[in-house]
Amino acid sequence: MRKTIFTGAAAAAAIAAALLPPASAQAATTTATVVSPKRPLNVREGAAVWTRILRTLPNGTAVSIECGVKGQLINQGPVRVTDQWDRLTDGSFVSDAWVRHAQPVPPCTQAQQTAAPITAAAGQTTPGNVASAAIPLKTRSGPARAALQYSALPNGTPLNITCQLQGERITGTMRITDQWDRLDTGAYVSDAYVNRAATPPSCTAIAPPAATPAPPAPAAATATQPQSQAPAEAGKTRWVNPLPGFSARPGFRTPTNPNHVGVDIMSFVGTPIHAASAGTVVEVVCNIEAGHSCDQTGSATIGGCGWYVKIQHTAGVSTLYCHMVRRGVVQPGQKVAAGQVIGYVGSSGNSSAPHLHFEVHVSTPPTSPGNAIDPLLFMRSHNAAIG
Ligand SMILES: [Zn+2]
Repeated sequence: MRKTIFTGAAAAAAIAAALLPPASAQAATTTATVVSPKRPLNVREGAAVWTRILRTLPNGTAVSIECGVKGQLINQGPVRVTDQWDRLTDGSFVSDAWVRHAQPVPPCTQAQQTAAPITAAAGQTTPGNVASAAIPLKTRSGPARAALQYSALPNGTPLNITCQLQGERITGTMRITDQWDRLDTGAYVSDAYVNRAATPPSCTAIAPPAATPAPPAPAAATATQPQSQAPAEAGKTRWVNPLPGFSARPGFRTPTNPNHVGVDIMSFVGTPIHAASAGTVVEVVCNIEAGHSCDQTGSATIGGCGWYVKIQHTAGVSTLYCHMVRRGVVQPGQKVAAGQVIGYVGSSGNSSAPHLHFEVHVSTPPTSPGNAIDPLLFMRSHNAAIG
């Protein structure tokens, strides 16, 4: 059973964001007052302190709360200890630990949680055009070269940029940057190759593109085999980031989630997941609470890690990859190389947003919660730091 620590509205916003209309015409709001005497309160894009700060509010500021979502537990606020985050009327979030309100805050409906990001709500785009010289600029499902490619735009193609998201760092013709532009089509292009007069606003939710295509069919996927990476040195075990271009946050056995024995790497549905090292696939399994399907988007209330793949490596190390969008594209008993695609990111099982839950176990087989170690430390020590 894997409890994902990624909860809250940024997460929920990623689920089927394209499918549900923004809930702008919701019921009455709850008026509240910021209680933050020592420093201004951070207003964030999601329900956790690791999400981007959009602005700050001084002590005593009146705010209008639309609804509340479950997010990161905050135990240092002056008003209460709570994991509730309040969604303000513009779609941003503040921890409920730092605001006082006379009326209770109603829980957000799914439509509210999946409302359009606030920058997109303005309905404005930043114009630009492709400046990639001879090579067409690839549009992708996420802010990294590892994301699925949608199309390739010739030099000079006009672009309508909705917002920018941090992703893989790219050296391009216009700039060196880790910013990726989300286009009005929902696809992403590296801002390194975009000529534009103004800086687009930041994207406020990890929402999948509007036009997310179905992940590749299994047959095609298996054909996309290892990445173009150097062969392992003889006698040395090579480790690679299973989800290059995306970052993980520390989440291994946290005080608030001691049973979380992996890390969560936020991504996009359909992003290829790579074997972290060479090994043998030992399990390709749907792990989910009875009555649910791994082929459907999961939720925080469903138990199980969804579609997962387990790989046995040398020296008793095993790795586990959870929440795949569908069955992994490898088979039990199959030998895999470091970097080989084994499946695609999804949100099956106990998951509130598309991500990879990644575990590393030692002294295996068998794997157990007791022999899980912090994947971030392990990967960093094996020259394959995640994010
Ligand atoms: Zn997790």
